[in-house]
Amino acid sequence: MPTETTETAETTDPMTEILDRRRAELESMESCDLLIVGGGVTGAGIAREAAYRGLSVLLAEKDDFASGTSSRSSKLVHGGLRYLEQFELRLVFEATRERSTLMRIAPHLVRPLKFIYPVYEGGTPGMPLLAAAMALYDSLSLFRSPRLHRLYGEAAAHRVEPLLRNDGLTGAAQYFDGATDDARLTLETILGARLAKAVCLNHLETMGIEEAREASGSWVTLRCRLTGTEKTIQAGSIVLAVGPWTDRVRSHLGLPNAERPLLRTTRGSHLVVDRARLPLAHALVMSGHGDARVTFAIPWDERVIIGTSDIDDDAPPEQVRASAEEVAYLLQTANSHLPSVQLRRDDVISTYSGLRPLIREEGQRPSEVSREHEIVEEKGVVIVAGGKLTTYRSMAEEVVDRVVRTLADRGAVAAGRPLRPLRRSAIGRLADRWSELADGEVMARRGTTARRILPGAVGLTGARGPKRVMALLSAQIHDSRTVQHLVRRYGGRSHQIAALCRDNPELSERIVPDLPVIWAEIPFAAQRDLARSLIDVLDRRTALALRDRSQGTGAAPRAADILSPLLGWDASERKRQIDAYGEHVARSCAWREE
Ligand SMILES: Cc1cc2nc3c(=O)[nH]c(=O)nc-3n(C[C@H](O)[C@H](O)[C@H](O)COP(=O)(O)OP(=O)(O)OC[C@H]3O[C@@H](n4cnc5c(N)ncnc54)[C@H](O)[C@@H]3O)c2cc1C
Repeated sequence: MPTETTETAETTDPMTEILDRRRAELESMESCDLLIVGGGVTGAGIAREAAYRGLSVLLAEKDDFASGTSSRSSKLVHGGLRYLEQFELRLVFEATRERSTLMRIAPHLVRPLKFIYPVYEGGTPGMPLLAAAMALYDSLSLFRSPRLHRLYGEAAAHRVEPLLRNDGLTGAAQYFDGATDDARLTLETILGARLAKAVCLNHLETMGIEEAREASGSWVTLRCRLTGTEKTIQAGSIVLAVGPWTDRVRSHLGLPNAERPLLRTTRGSHLVVDRARLPLAHALVMSGHGDARVTFAIPWDERVIIGTSDIDDDAPPEQVRASAEEVAYLLQTANSHLPSVQLRRDDVISTYSGLRPLIREEGQRPSEVSREHEIVEEKGVVIVAGGKLTTYRSMAEEVVDRVVRTLADRGAVAAGRPLRPLRRSAIGRLADRWSELADGEVMARRGTTARRILPGAVGLTGARGPKRVMALLSAQIHDSRTVQHLVRRYGGRSHQIAALCRDNPELSERIVPDLPVIWAEIPFAAQRDLARSLIDVLDRRTALALRDRSQGTGAAPRAADILSPLLGWDASERKRQIDAYGEHVARSCAWREE
């Protein structure tokens, strides 16, 4: 089948520099070693790993990067203390190791977070069991936790976290895990993959896959959702990293055994409330209201996230939203642990929900299903399902090992492309991992992504790095909370936002008074952070959809004005973008009408 580009009737042909570059990128791609379907954190990690190992990579995301589960998580990079209950020691070991790796390669995005786990009379676990679990948790992390756990008696527990319910409190454990912004971690991984020459495009849907008879690999049909353009390219191998869409996409692509589901999808919802209403000093571990599930209240700058529920749900992932019942459950759970606060429905600023792509296991309660991942192959397509945000990088190593092995078996990589084997001796292995690849060479095993920092970490390494970046920003931006916010979100890349403020000082103003987000982040999202719609910008690039009291609807018209010339929107497209954003927010608020 020839490589072709078809213009359809829907083509709007918006000629802007940003879209021209995107079009050129897609048009230049005629074939690749690896096509990744899905731009959540799993696909992003695979793209970065594969590109650094020397494969030519195309990642196609049908909506926006992280628009699925990867922006709907509890935003924790954690070992998963509760998995100890199910004796998933391997998972905890891997997750705590990855927590350390991510804190090293993305220190601006993955930061230590202090937790408190209170214990009440008659509750489980009791203090002795919790103390043993804490010791095991620290040892499985090889004592590389940001700080080791501490145990408190009743009075001390209340002193360090005064909001805790006093009645029946027998003590507490304090421990550390990691907090992140899931959508930005995904995006920076995509940007890292692009630095390694992977082509990663959002709003590009995979429509069909056909086995190539005349050559090895497959023909894949892609459709750009911005312009309606269709394109067919040849891929040596294909990975499906479509999270909760896995069974739908398997069925749509006609993969064998598609009638047998791989996944069990469970819905998890969160509430966002004002930190001033819930001024917690720690992230709080709470047992669920009326059940034994664990729920968290997690400080998130000016806000607190409360979540999550865990309910079987096989609705299309795009339609998932919180129900009034879940909101009531989460409020009751928080109020029973924090009686002096007494949160009400009116305190809820926003809600968000996602589907967990869990590997199907019969006869288990949702919260008991393992969070491990599985890699399977159907008709030459590698499918990765399950897993966690925390372990996305190590999962990607495993997937790419498999892809390279398959390509090598078929001779697809070896043809004119030296495959650097994993050498036997320890020194040889080390040399493989630390030396650069020659042009066209492909590395057979485990790449270098654990030691390469993500793009925003440039300039932040070393004890004085963050202070230096902040000092530079302060020359343009005089709001110190905004400076801190920019460094935490964009790391060393925030100097590009400061440059926008220098050219147009109005852009350094806050969008809403009670949040440090500024107008310069809007053009930056389109120019540097690959945002292509108003929803991309207000939901995933700036998180206003979750944090702002009007969920970004107040800012939408001016944001659309800023984006229109950059993304080629005329008046009717501008209106369509604002309307679509309004509908997006309204869906997340539907619980208020129930
Ligand atoms: C409520 C909840 C809380 C969680 N909390 C945590 C946590 O705190 N810490 C943690 O480590 N993990 C957590 N997880 C798990 C973690 O969020 C997920 O494991 C992870 O985000 C899954 O990422 P993914 O890339 O596999 O899937 P997704 O992020 O869903 O990505 C799949 C992508 O595929 C795209 N796609 C679908 N069909 C196509 C197509 N035909 N063509 C192109 N693209 C397509 C979709 O648009 C989507 O963007 C949580 C999960 C949930 C639901």
